[in-house]
Amino acid sequence: MKTGGVEVVCGPMFSGKTEELIRRLRLARIAKQRIQIFKPVIDNRYENEYITSHADQKFLCTPITDAKKILDQLQDNTRVVGIDEAQFFGEDLIEVCEKLANRGLRVIVAGLDQDYLGQPFGPMPQLLAIADDLLKLKAVCMVCGGEATKSQRIVREKDRVIVGASECYEARCRRCFDPDFSLMTSR
Ligand code: ADP
Ligand code: MG
Ligand code: ZN
Repeated sequence: MKTGGVEVVCGPMFSGKTEELIRRLRLARIAKQRIQIFKPVIDNRYENEYITSHADQKFLCTPITDAKKILDQLQDNTRVVGIDEAQFFGEDLIEVCEKLANRGLRVIVAGLDQDYLGQPFGPMPQLLAIADDLLKLKAVCMVCGGEATKSQRIVREKDRVIVGASECYEARCRRCFDPDFSLMTSR
């Protein structure tokens, strides 16, 4: 019987994507399924060998430079593959996930659906489309306390990727989200 599939967990920063990924992986481990976890090396916010949630839970993982490395590093007895910060991988992640799922593996992918401007982020839009199962999480808006679907950059910096947590970003709802803020110069 084929049991493979792609599960996507998305949402803004602080919405609990990594927590949810860790929860699913913990249950898989209790079910005695061999798991492997990958994340892009670009995410060096805390330690390099762990996926870490903002609530400080962690799980050992393998940092890789591109998605194709998942196929190279995959062990024969692995049943479940976890991938965190998937938005930083290239489009080839989509093919890798399809391949693994078609081989009967369970693939759980967590990542930001939108960047700091509210635009679809990296391979995430295609992953959402091909997913067998999808969870879109919300955080708490730091301005009004409502349901946040956006990641507001609170420093004036135009690069798409600035790795940082609460000092650079906060969760915002659509009404309180101001994508132009970080594009304006401070002069
Ligand atoms: P993500 O991987 O989506 O960035 P994490 O799983 O790392 O999120 O962290 C989620 C945790 O962050 C929450 O359980 C909560 O303790 C904390 N947190 C901090 N700020 C917020 C916020 N604005 N909304 C919701 N949770 C927040
Ligand atoms: Mg996370
Ligand atoms: Zn709000």
